[in-house]
Amino acid sequence: MRIRRLKLSGFKSFVEPSELRIEPGLTGIVGPNGCGKSNLLEAIRWAMGESSAKSMRGGGMEDVIFAGTTSRPARDFAEVAILVDRAPTGDGQDGEIEIVRRIERGAGSAYRLNGRDVRAKDVALLFADAATGAHSPALVSQGRIAAVIAAKPTERRQMLEEAAGIAGLHVRRKDAEQKLRATETNLNRLDELLADME
Ligand code: ATP
Repeated sequence: MRIRRLKLSGFKSFVEPSELRIEPGLTGIVGPNGCGKSNLLEAIRWAMGESSAKSMRGGGMEDVIFAGTTSRPARDFAEVAILVDRAPTGDGQDGEIEIVRRIERGAGSAYRLNGRDVRAKDVALLFADAATGAHSPALVSQGRIAAVIAAKPTERRQMLEEAAGIAGLHVRRKDAEQKLRATETNLNRLDELLADME
């Protein structure tokens, strides 16, 4: 999976709609301190489903919305769109996908995949299956190297699992186990009803 384009509007310091094309090869972002370089990486993580406001350097998730300056009023929403190229998998699921996340003050986040409303979970699964996502070790923010060195064995295992692309399988396993438990409860209930009727 390769990120080809990033579009932001009202996200942190990117108040005006901005678009960045990520061409093949190495891309560097340079600029003075505080110009918004880290905000761009955070925008990618956010669109991939980041749910921790703290890891977005905010107190609450609405802190990603442009907060205003002395000369510009605050915005009511923030929107980030990433266009990704899926590697051919042979299952017909390749091609371009645009993931859009939008947050409105007082209304929370909403996601769209190629224009269709989806749940946060669908976005998380899409990236987990592609061995990437908001917590991918491929996204290295400031201070992250020190965190990897100090990580506990279980945390390191999580990183390896994400890199190996099996994080999505864990989510599916949890879902399947929940369905299994619900079915077992239904079967037990059915047995009780049948016993009552006999
Ligand atoms: P450095 O090189 O120091 O790491 P940087 O280029 O990575 O800096 P960022 O940390 O991405 O810069 O951007 C910080 C800037 O973003 C600050 O000026 C901060 O005021 C601004 N900013 C963050 N959140 C918001 C927000 N919600 N509304 C407006 N501006 C914001």
